[in-house]
Amino acid sequence: MSRRTLSLDDALYDYVVRLGVREHAAQLALRAATSSHPQAGMQISPEQGQLMGLLVRLIGARRCLEIGVFTGYSALCVALALPTDGYLLACDVSDEFTRVGKPHWQAAGVAQKIDLRLAPAIDTLDAQLAEGAAGSFDFAFIDADKTGYEAYYERVLQLLHPGALLAIDNVLWGGSVAHPALDADTLALQQLNAKLHEDARIDLALLPIGDGLTLARKR
Ligand code: CA
Repeated sequence: MSRRTLSLDDALYDYVVRLGVREHAAQLALRAATSSHPQAGMQISPEQGQLMGLLVRLIGARRCLEIGVFTGYSALCVALALPTDGYLLACDVSDEFTRVGKPHWQAAGVAQKIDLRLAPAIDTLDAQLAEGAAGSFDFAFIDADKTGYEAYYERVLQLLHPGALLAIDNVLWGGSVAHPALDADTLALQQLNAKLHEDARIDLALLPIGDGLTLARKR
């Protein structure tokens, strides 16, 4: 029927979420708690959270990384998909945002899996590398400041083992990446997308879900 990805009108998008997403009550509650936030648009979409949870289960991930937590919905999606002894190292700089998510992590019974580090992510990642954690992570999600993405990518790639999966959010940036860059964020994403396209260290798929999600499997 279609040789290219559908564009979704509101009715079809609502259908996708209604029939394609199964949420824990805590996921619904956390989305509701975030919806009135002035920066609510930073939250990933429920169908993307569903995909990420499925991917985490599919690869049998036990040790995960998240760069950029916001109010913790994506961390909740990943933590719910992890086994009981699973571990998510979650990096963010904002106590104000991350504290919104904590009660919902508790309500879902996954708070003990999430190790939130409130510090610049580069510092946390460099400390992990210095501690010998290279090659020890199964899954990572980068969703933080866009001009920092390349630095996060290079460190995260070292922390993942061969065959591990990396997901990178906002790679389409509202569609702006397809046009001449007018700001530093768009330029950073364009440069990263171009770099990944040529990067022989990964297998690549760029999904037009949410605001664009790149999946990269470390070779
Ligand atoms: Ca995002």
